Order: sequence, then C-alpha cells, then structure tokens
Amino acid sequence: MTSLTPTSPNIYTRPLTITSQFSFCGLPLRLDSYAGCAFRCTYCFARYRGGNNGGDFVRPADSQSLKRVFDRALHSEPEKPGVIAQFLRRRVPVHFGGMSDPFQPAEARYHVTESFLRVLAAHHYPTVISTRGNMVASQPYLDLLREIGNVVVQFSFSSTRDQTARLLEPFSTPPSELLRVMGVLVRHGIRVTCRWQPYIPGVSERASEFLPRVASTGCSHVGFEHLKLPVERQNPLWDSLIHGVRRNLHNEYKQLGAKRDGREYVLPVEYKLPRVLEVASQVRKRDMTFGAADNELQFISDTDCCCSGVDQFPGFENWFKHQIAYAVRKCRGRAITYDSISREWCPSGSIDRFLNGDSRLSARCESSGTVRDHIRQRWNNPESPGNPASFYSVRPTDKLTSTGQRIYCWNLE
Ligand code: SF4
Repeated sequence: MTSLTPTSPNIYTRPLTITSQFSFCGLPLRLDSYAGCAFRCTYCFARYRGGNNGGDFVRPADSQSLKRVFDRALHSEPEKPGVIAQFLRRRVPVHFGGMSDPFQPAEARYHVTESFLRVLAAHHYPTVISTRGNMVASQPYLDLLREIGNVVVQFSFSSTRDQTARLLEPFSTPPSELLRVMGVLVRHGIRVTCRWQPYIPGVSERASEFLPRVASTGCSHVGFEHLKLPVERQNPLWDSLIHGVRRNLHNEYKQLGAKRDGREYVLPVEYKLPRVLEVASQVRKRDMTFGAADNELQFISDTDCCCSGVDQFPGFENWFKHQIAYAVRKCRGRAITYDSISREWCPSGSIDRFLNGDSRLSARCESSGTVRDHIRQRWNNPESPGNPASFYSVRPTDKLTSTGQRIYCWNLE
C-alpha cells in the first residue's frame, strides 16, 4: 500500500466538505477519497471544475484525514464543535463519491477509499456511496460495507448497453458488469440503488429496455436526470460519432430549447416532464421507488430526501431537512413558506469557508454566513440557486411572513 501523509506533495486536503448544493439537497456532506477521476466520463461536470482537472491527474486524500476529523468531532471539540463536527454528531449521512469515483483505478494503488470505509465502519456511519466501478464488490470492500451496516450503494448509468457506454464512459466498468455487481451486493444484504444519470435523449435506450435490467438485480430505487451538457468545447459531445452517426449534442440541445445555466446547457422542463412522469410510472410498476434528479422536479420523487431515496432505509433518518427542496415538497398543494422547515435541525457557525468567493455571505453583508443565514437569503432572492421559484410551477407572491420571508405558491392553484 502506498502511504501518503499530510506533508506529501499533491495531497488532497479537504476530503470531507459541504456541497455547494446544500440549500436544496438532503445529503450536503460530501466525501471524496480522490481529487480527479480517471473514469473521465465524456459528460462529467466535475471533469472541468472543482479540481477534477481533465481526469488526467488524480490526487489521493491523506488516508488518515477522515479518522482525524471523526476523532476531533466526536471526542475533542466538546464546547464549540465546528459545522462538520455538528453534522457528524447529528449523524447526517455522508455522500461518498460526489466529485470523483471512490473505486477508480487509483484505489488499487493508494487504498484511501479502504481507509475511509474503515472509519465509517467503526462508527456504523450512514453512508451513501456513488460509483461506476466494480471494485466495490471485491474484498476488503464487501466486508467493510457490511460492517458499516447503514450503507446504500448507488450505481450510475447513462445506458445499460455496453456499446453505448463505451462511447460515453470509455474508462469505467461496462454496464453489464455493473449490473452483475449490483446483484452480488444485494445477495450480500447491501442496499443498492440506481442513478440513471445522465439520461441522454436519443442516445440512452428507452425505459422499457433499461428498467427491467436494473430491476432484475434487486435494486430498490431509481434516480433519473436528463443530461446537463457542459459548455466546454473540448467536450467530446460537441462533435462525435454515436452509433455510426455524427452527432453534435450541443446543436441538438439548442434545437430542443436548452438554456445555459452557469457552465451547463439545461433542457426546458416542458420537454423533460413527460419523460420523467413516464419513467416514474414504469419504475413504480417494477416495485422500485422513483427519484426526480432534475432539480426543478425533485418534489415529484416518491420519498422525501431529494432524488436519492435513502430516507426509506433505517439509519438514514437524519438526512438534512433544513433546505428549500424539502420545504417545496412538504408544501405541495398549499402556500410554500420558510416556516415549514424553520424548526428542522441546522448546524450553527459559518459555512462561508466551504463556499466559493461569490457565495460567501460574510464578505457581502452583515451576516455570519451560517446555513440558516444562507437558506434565508436564498429563499428571498429569486436568482439564487434552489430558490423556491426555480421549482416547476412555483411562483413568488408579494406576501411576506411575519419574519420577512417571501411566500410562494403553485401556479396550478
Ligand atoms: S465516474 Fe463520476 S466523477 Fe468520475 S468521471 Fe464519471 S461522472 Fe465524473
């Protein structure tokens, strides 16, 4: 095993952090054992940002770092724990693999994922793992997953066809093998879910082909999201041969009415909604639950914790609820108010240092930048990510609550 210490060059120093999507996500604690991902999926948003630089350069985290974070959080910060420590004490589930795959080839050399799983196992800590790699079903990982107990492994697919996946994800495990591995985990008593993310119109197969294959593994839940196309022109999807036909997905997206949102092109909700409803209905027919991962449609998921479905499993009760997507979901059929989530647990202390410069509140206004401050600020700012009006069919009213928070309503009311 190659051992890396905090003083080794090129070490990845902050493996456990708070995702920038915390204001509309039930799993805001993100853990990554590597910065950079050698699977290099053609559409990967992380490939072009957040330290996942082209996938060519993978940096391992210090393998002891997570143990230090847990030790400090649970034993040596009794008076004033930091934000991460509060999340850990509360046992808010960790999402392992948010920006890089924990079971990419670097793991065979550095074993950082193994070290992190040992820490999570020691605490039976609720953990959601995202992967496209089959290493997860080999030893010692299989035993470690069972030791954690409170674990869900999410397998990601754009397609269940090996031929299609070879074009889109040439360096990760082929889908036929991933499906086999899902079945192996299920037979070992490990909960397995599927992320059909991204679904690529005209490239991914129909639900009637995709879903029976996934359901046959014993999978419990399917999250579904249309491709958000990265704007970077070096992306192979700008101009590539797909099933023998030269395609330019950017032109196709433009024709379908996609709009630029930050660094991605996003399809219009009117285009996505019929397919989302159709996939949801087919998922339910196969005795799995459905999660809508297109952000503006999250509230039509079958379970409360955004698109992940993990809240249906014991051990995951403390998913994060002080966030806007949960307020929108909770208030279906009635006025949407911040009061609906204001009493949900929330850590104290500033989170500004986890956010990029533009998102920090303390630099811009008289605020200490706590999670609550950020949520309240985003609640009243229609331009901010995850604002209630960013959800399908939700619009602001001109009414405020007694605490100054805007009241939103449903267009269909
Ligand atoms: S496996 Fe995940 S993080 Fe890695 S390149 Fe593919 S989409 Fe990106």
